[in-house]
Amino acid sequence: MTTPVTVFAGRKVALFGLGGSGVVTALALMAGGAEVAAWDDNEASREKAAAQGIGIVDLAAADWTGFAALVLAPGVPLTHPQPHWTVGKAKAAGIEIIGDIELFFRERAKIAPDSPVICITGTNGKSTTTALIAHVLKQAGRDVQMGGNIGTAVLALEPPAEGRIHVIECSTFQIDLAPSIKPSVGLQMNLTPDHLDRHGKLEDYAAIKERLVTAADVAIIGVDDEPSRQMAGRRGASGRPLVRISGDEALAEGVFAEVTEQGGLRTTQIVESRDGQRTIVASLADIGSLRGSHNAQNAAAAFAACAALGLGAGEIATGFRSFPGLPHRMEELGRIGRVVFINDSKATNADSTEKALTSFRDIFWILGGKAKEGGIEPLRRYFPNIAKAYLIGVASDLFAATFDGDGRVSYERSVTLDQAVAAATRDASAHPGAGEIAVLLSPACASYDQFPNFEVRGETFRSLVQALPGFVRSGGRS
Ligand code: ADP
Repeated sequence: MTTPVTVFAGRKVALFGLGGSGVVTALALMAGGAEVAAWDDNEASREKAAAQGIGIVDLAAADWTGFAALVLAPGVPLTHPQPHWTVGKAKAAGIEIIGDIELFFRERAKIAPDSPVICITGTNGKSTTTALIAHVLKQAGRDVQMGGNIGTAVLALEPPAEGRIHVIECSTFQIDLAPSIKPSVGLQMNLTPDHLDRHGKLEDYAAIKERLVTAADVAIIGVDDEPSRQMAGRRGASGRPLVRISGDEALAEGVFAEVTEQGGLRTTQIVESRDGQRTIVASLADIGSLRGSHNAQNAAAAFAACAALGLGAGEIATGFRSFPGLPHRMEELGRIGRVVFINDSKATNADSTEKALTSFRDIFWILGGKAKEGGIEPLRRYFPNIAKAYLIGVASDLFAATFDGDGRVSYERSVTLDQAVAAATRDASAHPGAGEIAVLLSPACASYDQFPNFEVRGETFRSLVQALPGFVRSGGRS
């Protein structure tokens, strides 16, 4: 189940960072005949790696003249906030510094240079779009391998082969460490200031992401923000294949989402404009896993990527309908009557929670944890959608003050998630009217005060709602 990396066969490689993907990379290099000298500051990681036969060498004390390359795990800083100490050593030794995606592309160039590879980057929506593309391709009967920054390390996947499609989510760090990245389809979703502590200026961050689409045979670029629009402009000027996509703007040429309203019912459709011809190619109506305008952008991107690999519009639209979504991102868990339970535990800041608050109308909102700067102040304009709020965790006082100041939202201090679920379910079930009601966990906070991470918080929510009398699970993954 790994892709052996043979391009360093018979040579010595230094590797720093023995987390999950670092270990996979070391084993893949060894399987391909390289000698690996690996190190990590964490002793437990070193011991775990040694137990798998990986050669542990103190790289601070090692002689670097014999190394052919330094392989860095994606979390290890190449540039910002400052280069890792191994970077200085590698530069002094005059050797290249690369990551696992680079090794993948070199191996592919050797064993299956024409095998299709789709790489996805952007500030937001990478994982959802990657998973959606892989799902649609699988549903259409293709041989698909999905990994990279999502779930499975790229070298833990089956190797590139003719007819096998790799769908790879790429973080900016990974692109930075992959000078010969060259996907068949390169997708740049969007770009907003984020992770700038790791990349310095916005221009540097954008330039790294642009490398992915510049290298791609077909570039798909979201044009809903200025830096990405400029990238599309440059790609367009080059005359090489480009598909523009948008989540909220009609394009003269490209793939975009369009919202229509009929009888008070809002429906999102994916439209393809080509050679002056507009075609509705897919509908997102009633697809619980693709709610919200952010998912409209993700669906437009996924449509363009699958179409670039030759799938028909019908196949793609069918694939969309069975997309289970990703856990913890506006994940529909199930229902009790007209009350739908939504797990949006991944929303650790106001920006992410905004997506959920715009996607439902009558919301019983469970929020709180460890607040980020600015709290929920930016969300005031969505407060009319809130039927009631339930506060948990250390942010309770801060958020209560926002609600008190606004005066439109009634709330209670539930303190813990189990009490919040009980109270929200009770209130939602008694809510008058006929439309859909949401009990929504979208914390707008980090989880660390009460949970080890957002995944455990989301799983706890899932267990609590699944235990409610009369709860019926939704069709997808829950
Ligand atoms: P990433 O992998 O880039 O972090 P995800 O697909 O995991 O993105 O989505 C994480 C969160 O980002 C979602 O919960 C949602 O709030 C938001 N999001 C998803 N897609 C988009 C998008 N296209 N534009 C803006 N925000 C998005």
